[in-house]
Amino acid sequence: MAKKEFNPANNIQDIQFFGESGGVNPSISDSSTYTFLSAQTMLDTFEGNTEGCYLYSRHTTPSNMYLGEALAAMEGTQTANVAASGMGAITPTILQFCKAGDHIVSSRTIYGGTYAFLKNFTPKLNIDTTFVDITNLEAVEAAITPETKIIFCECVSNPLLEIADIKGLAAIAKKHNLELLVDNTFSPLSISPIKLGADVVMHSLTKFINGSSDTMGGVVCGSQELIDSLRDVNDGACMLLGASMDSLRAASILKNLRTLHIRMQQHSKNALYLAQKFEADGLRAVYPGLPSHPGHTLYNSMMNPKYGYGGMLTIDAGGLEKANKLMELMQERNVGYLAVSLGFYKTLFSAPGTSTSSEIPEDEQAQMGLTDGLIRFSIGLDDDIERTYQIMRQCMKDVGVL
Ligand SMILES: *Cc1c(COP(=O)(O)O)cnc(C)c1O
Repeated sequence: MAKKEFNPANNIQDIQFFGESGGVNPSISDSSTYTFLSAQTMLDTFEGNTEGCYLYSRHTTPSNMYLGEALAAMEGTQTANVAASGMGAITPTILQFCKAGDHIVSSRTIYGGTYAFLKNFTPKLNIDTTFVDITNLEAVEAAITPETKIIFCECVSNPLLEIADIKGLAAIAKKHNLELLVDNTFSPLSISPIKLGADVVMHSLTKFINGSSDTMGGVVCGSQELIDSLRDVNDGACMLLGASMDSLRAASILKNLRTLHIRMQQHSKNALYLAQKFEADGLRAVYPGLPSHPGHTLYNSMMNPKYGYGGMLTIDAGGLEKANKLMELMQERNVGYLAVSLGFYKTLFSAPGTSTSSEIPEDEQAQMGLTDGLIRFSIGLDDDIERTYQIMRQCMKDVGVL
């Protein structure tokens, strides 16, 4: 028999959680605290023997467990913990692994908030980070010190869309006894980092996974041991820092997760179409699905092909002023919105140099190739992408980008 392929969408599809009275959706837990039948069970629960028991909603809730288990199934981990935002998942996880004196090796092209956390915040706790070009495995290995505990990267980096070689990084992490933490927010379903050797996968659920730009959320997917430690009442960073998700939100995100495979295919199809057209028009378009992208072959070797190369692409408008004019015109003509974030039904665009990556000092932006005319697009679910392209092209002509 052929080896069973890992299929993240099937794993989500196959999960069954019924609600009270046979509801096809699980019931929503509308409680912040939970009763115990015996005082001894309450004591046991505080001591970490939480099997089947709920304590208090900052710890976890039935609704949060349903969403967490579905996301763990998607990523192929033992379990997961959901959080109130992506940063609410990423920062406690990093802090759970690192204490004062420890060291982190991180990609230099990561989400602006994560960059600011590692650059400005963790040094106050005497945890230092060396930022490296993640596509250069030798540079990654050279940055490791005896104090290093984790390697941190994004599969598809924000906003430059560099591709991390997860297998290669996992081998380095293993050799030096480190944990490889991967933020997979830009490439859900397309890339399954655990299958490539990563230890922990995190997402901002705010983006593609929820997909309706109506809530924030985050998740950390990993071993039972890690998730138990994050929830530990005595020293768990998720439990103690308090960025817990609300049950109502967990329930709504779970419902949206079930259509993620359809949405990702459409985002990817539309983004590939536009990237090919923009490139043919002579624009500097960056998209992992283009053979001209330096990480194209690597992406091919890692991807679950059905879901494509994702919805994110960038173009260089040739200067900040032109970029701003173009974005304002595209918004006026209703092909998308001038807004940060990603994964919405409508195309969203922003200039990362002055927005989501503004935490990165200007000289460092220049060094990593983040030009001020760069526009980051999260391509929407448009049914008629040819029409969208025609409008965008006219906008580009009207502001002199084409
Ligand atoms: C948005 C984002 C985050 C942070 O998530 P929030 O939900 O905004 O806290 C982290 N990583 C990436 C790649 C993101 O795009």
